Amino acid sequence: MALDLSGLNPEQRAAVCATEGPLLVLAGAGSGKTRVITHRVVYLLERGVPPGNIVALSFTNKAADEMRERLHKMTGKAIADSLVLGTFHSVGAAMMREQPDHFGVPKKFGILDQGDVYGLVRAVLRDLGLTGQGAERRFDLGAIVQRVSLWKNDFVSPADAQGLYFETEYDEAAAAVYGPYEERLRALGAVDFDDLICRIATTLEENAEARAYWQAKFRYLMVDEYQDTNRAQLEVVRRLAGERENVCVVGDDDQAIYGWRGAKVANILGFDMYFKRAQTIKLEQNYRSYAPICRCANAVIQRNTSRHEKSLVPQRRGGDKVTVVVAPDGEQESRFIGRTIYREIKDRGMKPEDIAVLYRSAKQCDAIEALLQEHGLPYRILGGQAFYDKKQVKDALAYLKVMIAPKDDLATRRALDVPSRGVGLKTIEHLSEFARHRNLSLAEAIHRSEEIADIPSRAATGLRSFSAAIKRAQAHFYTSGSAVAPLQGLLEGVGLREYVLKEAGSEAAATARWDGVVWLLEALGRFEQRARAKGGQARYNDFFQVMNASKDKEEDEDGAGGKITLSTLHSAKGLEWPLVLLIGCEEGIMPHKRVSAPRISDAIAGDLEEERRLFYVGITRARDRLYITRAATRLERGAEVPRKPSRFLDDLPEADIQVHDIARDERLGHDNVASRAEAFLANLAKGL
Ligand code: ATP
Ligand code: MG
Repeated sequence: MALDLSGLNPEQRAAVCATEGPLLVLAGAGSGKTRVITHRVVYLLERGVPPGNIVALSFTNKAADEMRERLHKMTGKAIADSLVLGTFHSVGAAMMREQPDHFGVPKKFGILDQGDVYGLVRAVLRDLGLTGQGAERRFDLGAIVQRVSLWKNDFVSPADAQGLYFETEYDEAAAAVYGPYEERLRALGAVDFDDLICRIATTLEENAEARAYWQAKFRYLMVDEYQDTNRAQLEVVRRLAGERENVCVVGDDDQAIYGWRGAKVANILGFDMYFKRAQTIKLEQNYRSYAPICRCANAVIQRNTSRHEKSLVPQRRGGDKVTVVVAPDGEQESRFIGRTIYREIKDRGMKPEDIAVLYRSAKQCDAIEALLQEHGLPYRILGGQAFYDKKQVKDALAYLKVMIAPKDDLATRRALDVPSRGVGLKTIEHLSEFARHRNLSLAEAIHRSEEIADIPSRAATGLRSFSAAIKRAQAHFYTSGSAVAPLQGLLEGVGLREYVLKEAGSEAAATARWDGVVWLLEALGRFEQRARAKGGQARYNDFFQVMNASKDKEEDEDGAGGKITLSTLHSAKGLEWPLVLLIGCEEGIMPHKRVSAPRISDAIAGDLEEERRLFYVGITRARDRLYITRAATRLERGAEVPRKPSRFLDDLPEADIQVHDIARDERLGHDNVASRAEAFLANLAKGL
C-alpha cells in the first residue's frame, strides 16, 4: 500500500500531512473534504500508526460505510476493519460495551430506538396525569421528546430543567417528564441515543481512569460533517483529544442543516476558540459538479446573511444547464420523473445507481415509490420510513423477541402495549418489582402473574391471555424449528392485525402498514434459509442485529448497486450522484411550512436560512445533471390546490437554467417523446 498523493491539490495535501495538532478544514460542498479524511487515514497508517489508534467519525451509518468501502480499496479489508470508524453513536456504544462499569451501564444494556423513547415518554405523561382528554393528543409527543433531547445534549440535568423559565406549556411538560423518564431508562438498564454521546462526555470528564484509557487508545481523531455536531459531541471530541489535540475536523458552515436538532455551527466557526493552536485550511475548488450547477449553488447560498464568505470554483467545465421543471400537477411531476429516468438510462447510458430523487420531507417519497414500483424499477430509500423503521414492523419484531429471546424486557414491554390489553403502568410496576426480587425477566414475571396480588382483574385477564399466546407460539417454534409460522400465528392470535387495520383508518393505509409486517416475515424466512444452507442453526441474535442496526443494512445484503436512490435532503448529505432530481420545490414544502408558522419555541422552530442551506445541499449533490421540479397544483384532500413556487427558485441565475413548463411545451409539441418514454419504461420493467 503506497499512498498516492498526486490525486490531491496542494491544500488537500497539506491537510492530509498535518497530522499533529488541531486542524480545521473549512470548505464548500464537493471540495474534497471527505477525500482528505480517507487519505489522512491511509497516510497515518503508512507512518506506522496502528489502525486501532485511528478514529474517523462521520454523520450517518451510510457515510461511515462509504468511507469504510473506500478504505477497503486503499488498504485492504483487514486493516480497514480494525480502524475505529463509525458515527458518534456507534463508537459511543462500542466504548460503553467495552467498559460498562465506567460508563454506568449494565453489561448487556439496551439501546432505545425512537419508537421506544416515544413509548416511554407516553407512559410517563400518562403517569403524571398530563395526557388530558383524548389520550396523547394534549401534547405532541415529538415536541416533548425533542425538548428533552436538546436538554440532554446541552448537559441540562432534570433538576436544572425544573428550574428554567418556561415559555410554553410544552417546555413545562418536558421538564416534568425528564426526571421520571431518566429513572425509567435506568430501571430498564437501557440508554437512549443521546446517552451514547452525553454519557461518554460526562464520564470522560469525571472519570480519570476512563479518560486516560480512551485518550491513549484514540490517538488520532477525525470528524466529517463537523458543522452538524452539537455541544455534547464537541465535548466528546475535546475530552478524547486531551492535551495532544490530534484532531482534524472537516465541514462546511453552508451545509449546517441540523440546527433544529441542537447542532451548533459555532463548533466549526469557533474551532480555534476551543482548540487554541488550531490551523485552518480552506479548499476552494469544487471537483464534483459541472459549472452551471456550482453557479446555481453559489447564487442560492449567497443570499444567506450569517455565513462565512466562500464560493465554489468549478473544476469541471462545460455541462448542461440546470433544468427547472414546472408540472401542471403532482401526478404529472411524478410522471416527468419517470420519463426522465428513462431518458437518462436509455439515451445517455446512465445506471440506476447513478440517479437520485431528493425531497424535503419523507412523505414526498410515497408518490415516487409508487411510480417506480409500478414500473418495477429497483430503488432504495435513505432516511425516512423504510420498512424496518415502521412502527408495525418494530411491534412485530418485539413479539419475535418475546418468543425467541424472552429475557429482552424492552421487547416484552413493547409487545405488552400493542394492542392494548388493559395492562396499566401500575401493573407493570408490580410485575417489574416481582421480577426484580426474584431475578426474573419481565416475561417470566408475566407467566407467573397469578402469584402477584394487587393486579386488577382486567389486567390479570390481559396478562393471562398474553402469557398463553406466547407459550403457544414458543411450543410451536421449538417443534417446528422455524420462527416464521409461529410468529405469524402469534401476531394473528394477539390481534395485532386487527389492531393495525383499526388504527390505520383506511384500507389502503392498513395494507401498506401490514405490508411491513409481511416484509419482516419474509426477511425472517430468508434469514433462516440462509442459515440452513450454511448447515447451521439460525442465530436469531444476528437477525435482530441486522434489524436494529442501520437502516441501510438490509440493503447492503442485496447490494446497493443497481438501484435508484430516494432520499430526504437530510440523509443525502455528503453523498453524490451523476443525476439528481430535486422535487417539490414549492413554498410550504421547501422552505418547509414550519418556517412561516413557527410554533413550540424558537429553539425548535425552523429558520429560513437553514432551509436555504438544505436547498444548497440538494443542488450540490449533483455531479452531471440536475433537475429541479415543482407542481403548479397539488391534490389535497380531494381538491386541486394551487402551489406557489419556492422562493429559492428566484435565486437561480437565469443564464444557468432552462425552464421546462410541461403544459406549455406539450401544447407547443415539444414533448412528443413522452409516450415513447412510457412505453420503454414498461419494457424496462419486464427486462429488469
Ligand atoms: P460534501 O461537502 O458534499 O461532503 P466533500 O467536500 O466531502 O463534499 P468529497 O466527497 O470528498 O467532497 O469530494 C467530492 C468529489 O470530488 C468526489 O467525487 C471526489 O472523489 C472528488 N475529488 C475530491 N478531490 C479531488 C481532487 N483533488 N482531484 C479529483 N477529484 C477530487
Ligand atoms: Mg463530504
